[in-house]
Amino acid sequence: MTVAPVRRPGPVIRVTGRVIVNDQVELPEVWLADGVIAPEPPGRPADITLDGVALPGLVDVHCHIGLGAEGAVDPGTARAQAIADRDTGVLLIRDAGCPRRPYSTRWMDQDPALPRLIRCGRHLARVKRYIRPLPREVEPDELPAAVEREAKAGDGWVKLVGDWIDRDLAVPDLAPLWPDQALSQAVARAHALGARVTTHVFSREAAAQALRCGVDCLEHGTGLDAGLMAQAVTQGVAVVPTMLQRVNFGDIAASGRARYRVWADHLQRLYEARFSQALELHQAGVLWLVGTDESTQIPHGQYGLELGLLAQAGIPAPAIVAAASYRTRAYLGVPGIEPGASADLVVYPTDPRDGIGVMGRPLAVVLRGTVVAGEAL
Ligand SMILES: [Zn+2]
Repeated sequence: MTVAPVRRPGPVIRVTGRVIVNDQVELPEVWLADGVIAPEPPGRPADITLDGVALPGLVDVHCHIGLGAEGAVDPGTARAQAIADRDTGVLLIRDAGCPRRPYSTRWMDQDPALPRLIRCGRHLARVKRYIRPLPREVEPDELPAAVEREAKAGDGWVKLVGDWIDRDLAVPDLAPLWPDQALSQAVARAHALGARVTTHVFSREAAAQALRCGVDCLEHGTGLDAGLMAQAVTQGVAVVPTMLQRVNFGDIAASGRARYRVWADHLQRLYEARFSQALELHQAGVLWLVGTDESTQIPHGQYGLELGLLAQAGIPAPAIVAAASYRTRAYLGVPGIEPGASADLVVYPTDPRDGIGVMGRPLAVVLRGTVVAGEAL
């Protein structure tokens, strides 16, 4: 994982107004010099002054860089995806399932213009139980070894597909992919290697299994009810509601209704609870994170829309700001605004805690001490 700041000659930037470090700490100004957050004014005049409300760089914990409908895309296309995300203020991405062949995205770690990536390795799914060609397909007895391989290829995370339609059932429906034993062993293997595991779960049954088997983070999480939310809180398991993906569930259900009525009804119920259940996650005290699931169906650069859907669910703006920024950086173990950290921050004309609409039009996106996007350009 490449989160260590790189010092190199660059502009001196003075950010004034209000600098939000976290829930407790606000500063009247911060200085950026040579790509990092300076501990004190650097003794050189500012080349650029940005006056507004600053936040640590935004985080998308469920995004896929370098994937298209046919699998891995060429580096130019992958770069354009990352730039589209960066320009919305997203400067840290946990890539929740990335390609490796014929193109990996490892070269991006050397490109200072691109957001930082924390890769989960390739998706792991059971044979014919996910969207081909995205995952590496394995059978349950191969799962622990596959997890080991992805943990070693990734940046501290592994991504599993936990449920999908099972067409072999007498009545096809969403169903878990793995037996408990295989999943538990796979999670233990990841943890022994120092990696955390996140799992795609739509249904209640798969969410319950993931919690039972010790998974660290749940993607989509549409099936969690009050009891499972309480369990997630107790176990410290995070949930990524992926609102842009939830709002597609109605169309997905409709597209398969003729062949798979029970499955379609299941997805439709999850669709109808898309907003109320997200609000319940928040109110239950679950550590929820912001993830767009931008990949093949959801175009890149829509982070502002994801935040808008969270607000539409009724989650208060200050909580959305924390989840979009410093709270999730801390969860991933990446510094925010602190002396010596990489100068990655976003400046807005007004305080997003008073209305997150402003997060769609940043004054300045500053990555590694350089203004890369925003109206200030
Ligand atoms: Zn995804």
